Amino acid sequence: MGAGVNERRAGQPNQKKKRQRLYVKRPGGQFYNYRQWVGYGLLVFLLAAPFIKIGGNPFLMFNIVERKFSIFGNIFYPQDLHIFVFGMLIIMVCIVLFTAVFGRVWCGWTCPQTIFMELVFRRIEYWIEGDWTQQRKLDEGPNTDAKAWKKLLKHTIFLAISFVISNIFLAYIIGVDALFRIMTDPVEQHIGGFVSIVIFTLLFYGVFAYVREIVCTTICPYGRLQGVLLDEQSMTVAYNEKRGEPRGKLRKGETDGDNGDCIDCNLCVQVCPTGIDIRNGIQMECVSCTACIDACDAVMEKIDKPKRLIGFYTLGEIEGKGEFKRNKTRQVIYTAILVFLIGIFGYMIFSRSEIGGSLLRATGSTYQIRPDGTVSNLYTLELMNKSGHEIDFELVPEDPDLQLQLVNKIHKLTKDGSAKMSFFLIGKRENVQSYKTKVSVHVISEGKVVEKLKTTFIAPPGS
Ligand code: SF4
Ligand code: SF4
Repeated sequence: MGAGVNERRAGQPNQKKKRQRLYVKRPGGQFYNYRQWVGYGLLVFLLAAPFIKIGGNPFLMFNIVERKFSIFGNIFYPQDLHIFVFGMLIIMVCIVLFTAVFGRVWCGWTCPQTIFMELVFRRIEYWIEGDWTQQRKLDEGPNTDAKAWKKLLKHTIFLAISFVISNIFLAYIIGVDALFRIMTDPVEQHIGGFVSIVIFTLLFYGVFAYVREIVCTTICPYGRLQGVLLDEQSMTVAYNEKRGEPRGKLRKGETDGDNGDCIDCNLCVQVCPTGIDIRNGIQMECVSCTACIDACDAVMEKIDKPKRLIGFYTLGEIEGKGEFKRNKTRQVIYTAILVFLIGIFGYMIFSRSEIGGSLLRATGSTYQIRPDGTVSNLYTLELMNKSGHEIDFELVPEDPDLQLQLVNKIHKLTKDGSAKMSFFLIGKRENVQSYKTKVSVHVISEGKVVEKLKTTFIAPPGS
């Protein structure tokens, strides 16, 4: 049976060394309909997100070049590294927990590679070249004008879509305003940007026109991690071997005798975008796209057998470990941890200060005794505007007994701007209790404390 499958998928089984194109039957069914809703919804989000602005900032932007990121309209700079590191940790924990509970559902349902491949590029291919048998016939047939036109049309559309994806991808990195400048200014002013668009266009075209399922089965590290992330409680797309075997063809007018429910029609294999036979057991190449569930359900309906010969099962269930029971509590706990972690990350993003700053005592200085008998310390302060808009501010010491005297008077931070300032903190000598006192300086904007900066105030004790 295996050889038959390979012949069907690859077209020319004798040339084993050369990678051959995989012909995938057009999928359809209940899960595919759900998948389209999810996929097209995410596609709209993916295409629209760089163009949406909140408070003048992009909804999402990951500007690695300028080390500036925007998440839900909140701008992050290298100073916010701790939030990013925490965000990355949360993403990693989420991946591990999500995969342990739901298997590789991310790959088949929400990964941009799958969404673009299955819901955009593959559909265009069906539209131009027909279903999988017609595609193979076309490839193996003589080189005619009709074939050349079909290929030209397909690859032109693939290139055009790759160009759009490349621009959207760049908009996520440099922001949509910079992208518009690349598009509208003379090419020589943005050679780097122009070259990037060309390179990304060719890269996406190569991935969606040729590399395809290899991304999921060989290149993507998440797929390769699966083996260590799944355990016997993990849900995954699987074939119910106990019910299906021994498989056997069902001929007209015959009963299935001692055979299992699988009639060996191969439809589950034909619709698989990674070219595997799910009846051979759990495989790393399976992206949980559910196309085989739909295909098999349709067959079971036709032969009047219960659906879900292929379905979502835990590894424990399909490996038939005696009285194996699904542990729903674990799924609930893992999901709760996921929600909790995402909540913390959301809090960190939205509670972040609009102004970042670092406050240091002026290099080499201790304290100064002033002619009026007060004592002062000199500080240097660097403030950075992270709000995405212009900000007016003032500096106020937390301790009302201290006075703040600016050396260079700055009260405004431009959008994305920073300011270096120096100031004195001045206190009465009789108020000084110890040589080093912990003090705070508040940065106040629109009547609210937007940043608290801590430092120390030095003065001779008991004076
Ligand atoms: S085995 Fe089924 S779920 Fe897995 S990739 Fe193939 S069609 Fe999709
Ligand atoms: S679609 Fe169902 S019946 Fe047909 S080969 Fe696959 S498992 Fe067997």
